[in-house]
Amino acid sequence: MKSVRLHAAHDLRVHDEPIPETNDGEALINVKAIGVCGSDLHWYCEAGIGDAKLHHLLVLGHEFAGVVTEGEFKGQRVAVDPALPCGHCEWCQEGHPNLCPNTRFSGHGKDDGALREYMNWPASALFPLPDSINDEDGAMLEPLGVAIHTVDLGHMKPGMHVGIFGCGPIGLLTLQMARLAGASRIIATDLHQHRLDLAEELGATESHLSSGQNHEESKAILANTNKRGLDVVFECAGDQRAVDAAFESVRIGGTVVLCGIPSDDKTSFVASVARRKGLTIRMVRRMKHVYPRAIELVSRGLVDVGALISHRFRLEDSEKAFRIAEAREGIKVIITT
Ligand SMILES: [Zn+2]
Ligand SMILES: [Zn+2]
Repeated sequence: MKSVRLHAAHDLRVHDEPIPETNDGEALINVKAIGVCGSDLHWYCEAGIGDAKLHHLLVLGHEFAGVVTEGEFKGQRVAVDPALPCGHCEWCQEGHPNLCPNTRFSGHGKDDGALREYMNWPASALFPLPDSINDEDGAMLEPLGVAIHTVDLGHMKPGMHVGIFGCGPIGLLTLQMARLAGASRIIATDLHQHRLDLAEELGATESHLSSGQNHEESKAILANTNKRGLDVVFECAGDQRAVDAAFESVRIGGTVVLCGIPSDDKTSFVASVARRKGLTIRMVRRMKHVYPRAIELVSRGLVDVGALISHRFRLEDSEKAFRIAEAREGIKVIITT
């Protein structure tokens, strides 16, 4: 089978390998579609993410769907949860498997991911897909799961005014979830006009093209909200300017949900602003048990995940796919086997 391995920063190579063996409780999956995620781009560009560094020729890929060829669910199309929390630690027992420090993760550290034709993965992490969800949309359920968890953390109420700062795939999915959660006003910001155009198609009521200057969008948003500001701001850019704008434009007593992953592994905010406003700050760490909701929302047409797919490449052209994703030319790049 073909697999794609990361040798170093900006160095992905196609390998020819034996089909992996399955262990107890595992299924063999013929991978069909894989999404390229911002976190994959950290690995691709920096040969690591945060404090995790490249230890072996890693197969990336954690947003994927395929067909089971061996084991439980044999013959069925499935979406795959790429995170395997231990299930035993204090945090797993407390109902926070997303915070488990012993989590194994597809395409991270020692665990090879989905950029290959076949992979073995525990059957307990597989979710059969209805026919109404195609393989590419099935791969989008993972980022949608993150967006569901992100909006869950915002504790939104119908009629709230929210900000989506950063309209990459996670931002655009978070936007749709915020709309479903009852936001009456959704202000989207981004550095790229094509992303804002899509944000408006997907439910943003207003958008601001950022020029990257400090205080620019917060001034505009405060002026547009009678100086009140937004109830909840979802920061989905992983960029300090977006974080600053979030703290400046959220209302007194409001909530900032930080979902983006900063390249330099540092996030800061002006303490006096956050303190005087008495803000609630929430950090997004992956997701909880949200796949059933993600499947329900996509199969009923309540969330449009397919609208985000801007580029498609074959597995052997993965290097090209990652370059396009790195250039932020489109929205979501999908690789098919
Ligand atoms: Zn991801
Ligand atoms: Zn655990």
